Parts: sequence; structure tokens; C-alpha cells
Amino acid sequence: MSQIHLSYWNKTAIKDQYQPLKEDLEVDTLIIGGGITGVTCAYCLARKGMEPVLIESGELCEGTTGNTTGKLTVQHEIIYNNIVKKYGWDFAKSYADSQNSAINFIRQAVKKESVDCQFADNTAYVYAILESEVETLEKEYETAVKLGIDAKLKLKPPFPEGCRSILGYSHQAVFHPVRYVNALAKAAAADGAKLYCGTKAVKVEDGDRITVYCENKCRIKAKHLVMATQYPIFDGPNLFFARLFAKRTYGIAVQAKRDWPDGSYINMDDPSRSVRTHVESGKRILIVVGEGHATGRGEEDMEQHFERLMQFAEEIAGIETVLGKWSAQDYETPDQIPYIGRISDHSNVFVASGFGKWGLTNGTLAGNMIADLITDGSCQYEQVYSRKRADYLTSPGKAITGVFTPVGELIKSKLERPENIDQLKLGEGRVIRYQGQKAGIYRDVDNTVTILDISCTHMSTELNFNSAEKTWDCPAHGGRFRTDGTLLEGPPKHSLKVLFHGNYSDLTAEN
Ligand SMILES: Cc1cc2nc3c(=O)[nH]c(=O)nc-3n(C[C@H](O)[C@H](O)[C@H](O)COP(=O)(O)OP(=O)(O)OC[C@H]3O[C@@H](n4cnc5c(N)ncnc54)[C@H](O)[C@@H]3O)c2cc1C
Repeated sequence: MSQIHLSYWNKTAIKDQYQPLKEDLEVDTLIIGGGITGVTCAYCLARKGMEPVLIESGELCEGTTGNTTGKLTVQHEIIYNNIVKKYGWDFAKSYADSQNSAINFIRQAVKKESVDCQFADNTAYVYAILESEVETLEKEYETAVKLGIDAKLKLKPPFPEGCRSILGYSHQAVFHPVRYVNALAKAAAADGAKLYCGTKAVKVEDGDRITVYCENKCRIKAKHLVMATQYPIFDGPNLFFARLFAKRTYGIAVQAKRDWPDGSYINMDDPSRSVRTHVESGKRILIVVGEGHATGRGEEDMEQHFERLMQFAEEIAGIETVLGKWSAQDYETPDQIPYIGRISDHSNVFVASGFGKWGLTNGTLAGNMIADLITDGSCQYEQVYSRKRADYLTSPGKAITGVFTPVGELIKSKLERPENIDQLKLGEGRVIRYQGQKAGIYRDVDNTVTILDISCTHMSTELNFNSAEKTWDCPAHGGRFRTDGTLLEGPPKHSLKVLFHGNYSDLTAEN
């Protein structure tokens, strides 16, 4: 979870507490990760009469699920033209149908479990501001209609201002993600699932029986292992480190001064702007998310990302009060399609990752698919989400053409020049040279400084300072560390080495 910002969703939900695991276990299915993916999987398995065990390093929804926009839609920006071009019509139809099945699963679970999570049907819009985007939007509309999506295209709508055309999909939805996942976890526990929070997995051994070692020294042997950790903590033969890249995005919730139209909105160009309405006790709250960038590669002053979102909210509806500010990350794949399924043909370790900021449907789908794979040996849509598809080398997508490929970042980070420590401000972090090596310095508000070895403990990429969150972030795979070096999130398993901790004046005297 972010160090200094708590999302509106995490602020406004009362979460059930689950105790840490205190003993070794031998189980049929172990799920690692208490976000929407892991909890959905636990719920599905428990409903099938299994007794899955779920472990979570923090608390439920501590990861990205608690820091989203809360949209449930098959409209994943512009995606269907790309899928048809690359994989054909049947594949694209399966993608749309599978995402729709995830929305319906949530709709039914909300009803069945009487979940109070402000689930509401709406229309999801994607809009073109630039003339150059209009034709792409028209093509996406034609493709969507052919795929059976209830789509409508309008020219020059009154909202958002300056929009040239807008594509709307009916029968989509929004909800409060944390309240939903918390209730689903409770229902899973009532049906036989066992949940343990504050229990971090640090090592996985695949074999006849999978063994997972936890940070607190507990050991779990399992027949099946579900990695619902966003970035898979065990790779197998898949080179995920070169196929998943982390993108960080910012969000705000505001009580607005003026009214704005219902529906979910997202623009086509950069910087991204994603908007929706949340209704809390009869009051409409405006959620604005955007400013996505490769993790570790944002503005020098990261607070500017929040400021620009506020400016946008001000333009749309005027800000009365800011109710929450947050940021989070998700992983993208080269072809915009996640990896869901076994990590290799005969392995009982399962991956669910690369949701590209659409993981509320994708994670729900993954939870369902993996539960079916475990109980029935196969599942619908297995081929669509297979890690074996030829996604990397043949993808025309942004991962290949953009600068921010994980491997590219690894090399690039080594070439960047360090600064010196002169006039380091309170609350500022920088990359410097310390005792002959590149290092990261942070000066805290109490004037103490911490110098860290900023080679990421995952794959040695050099970290960059995130001034909005006061963290050290890895541009290659999204590992993040606190300013004292402790691990916050992502694929690394260890904290950073502290090279110096003391008073700023002692350090400047030393230099
Ligand atoms: C700003 C933003 C807005 C978004 N908005 C939307 C949206 O509107 N609609 C949509 O569909 N998608 C959205 N997404 C994407 C979506 O929210 C995510 O893809 C989804 O929440 C991922 O769920 P998850 O359960 O797989 O991962 P997470 O929610 O991140 O859960 C993974 C959990 O695993 C735990 N964990 C990790 N490693 C370990 C370990 N070693 N041991 C134990 N536990 C571990 C973490 O603590 C975490 O709680 C958004 C993403 C972002 C960044």
C-alpha cells in the first residue's frame, strides 16, 4: 500500500480482520494474495466444496484492488480493433464474452451474498478529443457491434467538453471494490475457506508437492498454488520479467460543487483521464483517475500528477472537498491481454497477471477460471489467456514500440547520471554517488538522512525516487521500497541495504 496516501475506498470500508498464520500447513489449494483475484478464487473454490487457504502479506485489498476506479466494463479503452487484427474475430469475441461473464459474476455475487457495495449499472464511454482519434473510435464502434456489444457512437456530445466523438457501451457497472471484496471473503470463509493476513510468502518450490515458505517461518505444502499477487512470485519457464511492465496511476475522490452527467468516461490519448460517479448515502462523489506512467518514470515532482487531476476535476465539476488521493500500479502485457492459467503444461502453479488496469473484471475472471482448472482440469477461455500465445515478438502494441520495456529500463537505468547532495531539501530524495557507488539519499522532515543501495533486489535495476509517495520505485518491474529501504510491494523479496543513516549535517561534514 502507498506510504502516505490512503484511497477513498480503503478509507470508507470497514474490513474484517484475519489473523496471521502461526503453524505449518498441508493443504490442497493455497492462494497467495488477498485482492479481487485471490478472494474470488477462494470464494469459487469454497462454493465448490473445497477448503482453500489464502494468505495475504498485509490486509485484504492492500494492493491495487483497494486503489482503483471501481469500473466494471468490457470497454478496456481501445482494444477490440487490436485484438481482431492480431488474433482474429473468434478470439476477440471470446475476450468480450469472458469480460462480460466477469461483470455478471459480480452482479450475481452481490445479489446472492447481499453485498452492500453500491453496485450500479451504467454506460461506459471512451471518447476522442483529437481529430486523429475519431477514425479509430469509429472502427472500434463497428468492431464492437460485430462482436455483439451494445455500443453507440455519438458525435460532438456536450460532455466531456471539447470531445469530438464518444463511444458508449450499455449494461456496464461500477461498485465500491473494497466493500465487495471484503464481503466476498467473508462468504468464502463461511463456506470453508481459511484466510490469513499479515502472512507473506517469500519462496516457492514447485514439484510433486509445492512448498511455500513464509517470512514468519511457517511452511505450507500444497497440491495447487494460485499466485494472485499481481506480479507472479514464481516465474517457471515464462520470462515474465520481460513480458510484464508496471504502470503507476493516480486517483482522487472529490465532493464537487456542480453536477456532471452519469456514466463512466475514459479518454483515448495521454495523459489518461478516467472518470466515474460513486454514490455514498445519496451524495454523488466524483472519482478521477489518470496520469498513468511507467513506474519509476513519472514527473520529477510527482505531486504534479495529483495537481493535474485536481485541475481536471475542477474543470468538470468544481472541487468542494477532496475526499481521497491515492496511487497504485498494475502490470501490462505486450498485447493488452492478461496471462491466466498454469505456468507450464503440467504444473499445478497458476498465474493471474498483466491486467493492464482492467483487473476488476480480469481478476474476477481469473479467479473463476483458475477455480475451474483446479476442480475440473479445464476451463472456458483457457486458450485466450494462455501464457503460450505469441504475444511479444509479434505485438505492434506500446510495449514494443515504447521506451518502457522492462529490459530496456534495466539497461537505461544504468546510464543515468547521479547528482550531488548539496542543498537537499527536507522530504527530497535523489540519486547520488556515495563511497564510489550510485546510491539513493532521502532527507526526512526531522533532518535525518538515509542513504540506500538503490540496485533493486529483484534484478538490480536502479531505482528512482517517487516524490509523491516518498518511495524508491523500480522502472523495470515495479518493485517499490520505503525511504528506510524496507520493501513495500512488487516482485523483490528483500529490502534495500542501508549505507548510511544519520543526521544531514554529519553527512555534509563527512563530504
Ligand atoms: C489506479 C488504478 C485504477 C484501476 N481501475 C480499474 C477499474 O476501474 N476497473 C478495472 O477493471 N480495473 C482497474 N484497475 C486494475 C485492477 O484494479 C487490478 O488489476 C486488480 O485490482 C488486480 O487485482 P489482484 O487481486 O490481481 O491484485 P492486488 O489487488 O494487487 O492483490 C494482490 C495482493 O497480493 C498480496 N501479495 C503480493 N505479494 C505477496 C506475497 N509474497 N505474499 C503474500 N501476499 C502477497 C498484496 O499485498 C496484494 O494485496 C485499476 C488499476 C489502477 C492502478
